[in-house]
Amino acid sequence: MTTIRYCFLITFLSICLLACGPKQDDTSTLPLEDDDAIDLIIVGDHVVTMNVDLDVIENGAVAIDQGVIVAVGNADEIRATYSARETLSGGDRIVMPGLVNGHSHAAMTLLRGVADDLALMDWLNNYIFPAEVEFVDSEFVRIGTELACWEMIRGGTTTFVDMYYYPDVVAEVVEQCGMRALISATVIDQRSPDAEGADDSVSKGVAFIERWKGRHSRISPIFGPHANYTLNAEQLAATRRAALELGVPISIHVSESPFEVQYSKDTYGMTSIALYESIGFFEGPTIAAHVVWPTEDEIPILAERKVGVIHNPTSNMKIASGISPVTAMLAAGVRVGLGTDGAASNNDLDMWEEMRLASFLQKVDRMNPEVLPAITVLSMATSGGAAAIGLGDSIGSLEVGKRADVIQVAFDDVHHVPTYDVVSHLVYVSDEQDVASVVVDGTVLMREGVMETIDTTRVAREASALAAQIQSTLEQRNKTR
Ligand SMILES: [Zn+2]
Repeated sequence: MTTIRYCFLITFLSICLLACGPKQDDTSTLPLEDDDAIDLIIVGDHVVTMNVDLDVIENGAVAIDQGVIVAVGNADEIRATYSARETLSGGDRIVMPGLVNGHSHAAMTLLRGVADDLALMDWLNNYIFPAEVEFVDSEFVRIGTELACWEMIRGGTTTFVDMYYYPDVVAEVVEQCGMRALISATVIDQRSPDAEGADDSVSKGVAFIERWKGRHSRISPIFGPHANYTLNAEQLAATRRAALELGVPISIHVSESPFEVQYSKDTYGMTSIALYESIGFFEGPTIAAHVVWPTEDEIPILAERKVGVIHNPTSNMKIASGISPVTAMLAAGVRVGLGTDGAASNNDLDMWEEMRLASFLQKVDRMNPEVLPAITVLSMATSGGAAAIGLGDSIGSLEVGKRADVIQVAFDDVHHVPTYDVVSHLVYVSDEQDVASVVVDGTVLMREGVMETIDTTRVAREASALAAQIQSTLEQRNKTR
């Protein structure tokens, strides 16, 4: 068997694409209790493992049983060792870990395109927050989240971190559609679609987390305090205390815009991350979305506190929030993943686009094409992203014993001809339409482009009907202005 092994040199930033030659004994396996057929074998011309050695296995396969990866290696050896109830064949297919979308507001798919080309605070205060109070109810969240899950599965995303309203509804949709998710109970000190303010949203969040914690292996309930300009320092600290008591992480917007940092300085006399550090906010696991404006002094705090930073290049560009110093954060040892943000500020949930833009944005910002190479960006969307959201031990790479979140990417379209370097193509060429099959926890959610767990006809019909109501209300309002 021929295995191309990619090697790390020093850090993420200096990864080489050095072919280290054939490797012996590539097929690693987990002993099975009996010799019954396993659930699934997924085959590919190449298996991009994203393990610590960044092994790429030619003519490879992944064997899966009971939701767990039981073998990764040469396809012929795996087929000879196991009989499987189903095999996803591998001609013109690349097998890799599912993508991790570290920051989203899934149900905002229903607000896609209602307010474009606006600055963050204008967009939030004059369009998004009022529209949410008016239109968002549990039915909106159900339909919008189903629509988002459909789009994410279609594009090869297997795990997402969500921050929205009616988290019980989000969890029910995720349970049904088969994805993996960290679902935030949003905490915000204003009237929102499902709460009257900070205290109310914290107490409803506690109830949500108690209902879902430990109930389902794919669903992690967490807290989602919105930001330091929609919650005061005491409310932020209280949310952290509640999260520590319940043993759950927090997802939050951090240093997203110059407005936020200035607001923090004016109100507390310090920048956002310094404020969080001063109130002990980072004493529990934190997923920090955006982090566009950390100071030089704040970046080491993020590394030391093991804060998972989620970079959202498309949203940061569209709202003109700025360019996050991703290269500097990675060099300082900060865990950095990728996210799409909500569909109202993107306007899609395509992680392939995030990978490409993340790389190009750093290159042009630093005027250096060597920064953020393809393999680093691919890691941010898989193994690095999984680590940033606290799931690095269970997902993000194709390794024996990890949960089986695996995708197959088709390489038979014209833009993959010719292919000299698989990793280059995954980051700089592939798009969501290339994803052929998606497996989460060993269950096939999409098989050769066909959705298995979502009734797409119904979801499209319901989303269109609800969007028509929103459109007509907005038009009425514009007429009466
Ligand atoms: Zn966001």
